[in-house]
Amino acid sequence: MPPFPEAARIALANTQLRTNLAHATATIRDKRARVVAEVDDWEELRTAGAATKDRVLLDLDTHLVRLEESLIRAGATVHWARDAEEACRIVADVAKAHHVDEVVKVKSMATQEIGLNEALAQEGISAWETDLAELIVQLGDDLPSHILVPAIHRNRAEIREIFLAGMARAGRPAPEGLDDEPAHLAEAARLHLREKFLRAEVAVSGANFAVAETGTLVVVESEGNGRMCLTLPQVLVSVVGIEKVVPTWADLDVFLQLLPRSSTGERMNPFTSTWTGVTPGDGPQEVHVVLLDNGRTRALADEVGRQALRCIRCSACLNVCPVYERTGGHAYGSVYPGPIGAILNPLLRGVGVDDQVDSLPYASSLCGACYDVCPVKIDIPSVLVDLRAQVVDAHRGGVPRPEAVAMKAAAATFRRPGLLRAAERLTRPGLAVVRRVGASAWTGARDLPPAPKESFRAWWKRTDGGRS
Ligand code: SF4
Repeated sequence: MPPFPEAARIALANTQLRTNLAHATATIRDKRARVVAEVDDWEELRTAGAATKDRVLLDLDTHLVRLEESLIRAGATVHWARDAEEACRIVADVAKAHHVDEVVKVKSMATQEIGLNEALAQEGISAWETDLAELIVQLGDDLPSHILVPAIHRNRAEIREIFLAGMARAGRPAPEGLDDEPAHLAEAARLHLREKFLRAEVAVSGANFAVAETGTLVVVESEGNGRMCLTLPQVLVSVVGIEKVVPTWADLDVFLQLLPRSSTGERMNPFTSTWTGVTPGDGPQEVHVVLLDNGRTRALADEVGRQALRCIRCSACLNVCPVYERTGGHAYGSVYPGPIGAILNPLLRGVGVDDQVDSLPYASSLCGACYDVCPVKIDIPSVLVDLRAQVVDAHRGGVPRPEAVAMKAAAATFRRPGLLRAAERLTRPGLAVVRRVGASAWTGARDLPPAPKESFRAWWKRTDGGRS
């Protein structure tokens, strides 16, 4: 993927994308604001959620070991995965042990983060998304552009085209004469997916939360398709980021209040599924849990950035971000777009190794709207600023950039009054020259202000510091 500024420039030229995004984000934003305003102790809930997550992160190893013990006691098999490759290998091995060539999937950011669908495809195993928006993305050979609504960049006319062209390739074709009525599109998806639910022997999920005291995994969703995957197949593999652990059910209570209002603007999400290992004769009879690091311990070691691991993936920060609203999610080049993506990707992958990742902390105006809405109070602007400093440090040495040279020259000038006096006299002719030669890289995205009529020093002298 190109660095953010290049990808954003392309996205900004797409008027349809901007129209779709502006409409969708404004709708979710308004809904969220209304239902959050109903809760008198919303700020206290945010503080409690942030405190719980911080407590867990500072003692993560203890909570994870407790979770592992509870899971094993409940009949699950626990795997630990250091990175994406290990996690994909574990899921593929489970599928191959059952001789299946397809699995059904519950919507999961973790499995997208590790590129599971692509890895399984290389092993000859098809992974079918069952969340409606994920299905639209998959059938359209597209990439998700939003954490909660991966197909937010598509309107219903585009979805109809995708269903007509893509469903037949993946199973049951779209009904003849399908129009773009939302109810008809949803029915087409329901019929298409039903075949897959009834056939699948292996399902793959993530988890929104993992309760350490009982080894219970939790998935919250709006459609109920996830629940079909969690109950019908005989084998279930759940890929769970290690930061998803919460110590007790009492802790979970806070997050089940924070999440639905922040994400879909609902008082309570329609479906909350919980499962604890294996229950004989009920649901999957073989349950695997893959506890995934993939950069999370790297993020944990970052004193400022570790708060990003509090994230409960509600997507509220995306819906209020002026940058996201104009560029869409693809410009961020990652499954985590928007403000949280701008900090999570560099934290998980490290700065200084990839220009695209290093560009993300700059994909923000630092307006602070993301911090205001975050249900777990992640101070995204502060993390962005800290990561910018890390990016600058990582690129020190070698040939300095023109901006760095200009800043150094400015610093030297401000330190010497004589030099500053001379520079003030040269401001006008200097700016005139700069305008003619080589300032376009700067002025392409910013204004170059006109030179003032007189310097501050001259003004002070002339007016006696504003007194005359
Ligand atoms: S950073 Fe906060 S607002 Fe953004 S997705 Fe995570 S929890 Fe939600």
